[in-house]
Amino acid sequence: MNMTDLPELRTSCVVAGGGPAGMLTGFLLARAGVNVVVLEKHADFNRDFRGDTIHPSTLDLLHELGLLDEFLKLPHQEVLALNGVFNGHVAQIADFSRLPTRCKFLAFMPQWDFLNFFAAKAQRFPSFTLHMQHEVIDLLFEGNRVTKTPEGERDFRADLVIGADGRHAITHTRGGFELREFGAPIDVLWMHISKHKGDPENRFGFFRHGKLLVLIDRDDYYQAGFVIPKGGIDELKKRGLLALHGEMIALAPFLENRIAELNDWSKIKLLTVQINRLRKWCREGLLCIGDSAHAMSPAGGVGINLALQDAVATANLLAAKLKAGHVSLADLEQVQRRREWPTRVIQRMQSFIHRHIVTGRESKSGDSLPLILRLLQWFPALRSLPARLVGIGPRPEHIHSPIAS
Ligand SMILES: Cc1cc2nc3c(=O)[nH]c(=O)nc-3n(C[C@H](O)[C@H](O)[C@H](O)COP(=O)(O)OP(=O)(O)OC[C@H]3O[C@@H](n4cnc5c(N)ncnc54)[C@H](O)[C@@H]3O)c2cc1C
Repeated sequence: MNMTDLPELRTSCVVAGGGPAGMLTGFLLARAGVNVVVLEKHADFNRDFRGDTIHPSTLDLLHELGLLDEFLKLPHQEVLALNGVFNGHVAQIADFSRLPTRCKFLAFMPQWDFLNFFAAKAQRFPSFTLHMQHEVIDLLFEGNRVTKTPEGERDFRADLVIGADGRHAITHTRGGFELREFGAPIDVLWMHISKHKGDPENRFGFFRHGKLLVLIDRDDYYQAGFVIPKGGIDELKKRGLLALHGEMIALAPFLENRIAELNDWSKIKLLTVQINRLRKWCREGLLCIGDSAHAMSPAGGVGINLALQDAVATANLLAAKLKAGHVSLADLEQVQRRREWPTRVIQRMQSFIHRHIVTGRESKSGDSLPLILRLLQWFPALRSLPARLVGIGPRPEHIHSPIAS
């Protein structure tokens, strides 16, 4: 079937990408009565090794939407503080208990549960449509976009296209936006490792001499992230799986009795870490948000929070105007102005973490606790600062977008 066989669709707003930014934007716009279509290229949300953190600020948003109690019935783990083992010393990095938020914890929940939750809630609004297996393949800038569906290609015509299609976004490449790369000296290998009874409790990160292993407790297994120097995967593969096992066990010796589970490179997924930002996030009829506007490193686990906060700001600033039928370039620029500063702050924090806390290379810090971490141990109140940056972030957003009557 060719493109002309599928009828063109017309709507107020098309959101490219059903990730955290796209799904929340779609939900909020539909809640405001805007006709919105979310296009997601995959058939479902079941992808492994995406960020699975639900931050206290997101839980506040869910409360503002009256959805918190229902949401917290979904299976999740609650983390009150982040502890790490640094050069053999246990240290607390962030303490969420003093945050001025409703929930004083970080929730870990598979991202697909979070996205399915919002997709189901959004489907209740008559002006919301979600098309799965609809990959955006081009933008035409006459108010249309082309989408590849399982049946063929189809044009969508919209007043506004919101690019929420992540860090390899077609919307920002086809939009012709200038992308500024800030560099990241690390890549991350993600894998699953089983959890055993008697494992150390509440140990989130294992640092030694510039090497880092993150273990996210997922109840019956760990989602493990092992940091390697940028581009170091080929060299590591040459040294072989046993070398990788050895490096991981050196950081977390209790994994020795199960490390052989990682018996094939196909069980290990490489994340090429990027930090970048579009110089301009919008042009007439197109706005990029979330990772599409600013790819985040996994350092600090804040990419989802930022993407969701972008979605809230977008709906706050644009919902009523979209409903009324006209969004100007100046309106879109307002979204960038509001969200660019928090993005810069967080990206600088991530670059700082890369440079000073973990580089993936051997460092000369000996066996002592790095100074910053010593300060956090001496002055516990200081642990609220990383908790605030991770759990809330700068310039937190609140729901002000209208509800359709
Ligand atoms: C391995 C890994 C671990 C991470 N860990 C964390 C963490 O612990 N905590 C945290 O906060 N952040 C983490 N992050 C970052 C976080 O996942 C992102 O910052 C966040 O998901 C960005 O949300 P988004 O909606 O902007 O983009 P994405 O989550 O990337 O969503 C984009 C969506 O668009 C879809 N899409 C892409 N192209 C098209 C197209 N052409 N047409 C239609 N649909 C398309 C994709 O399928 C996807 O569903 C991690 C990232 C990775 C890769």
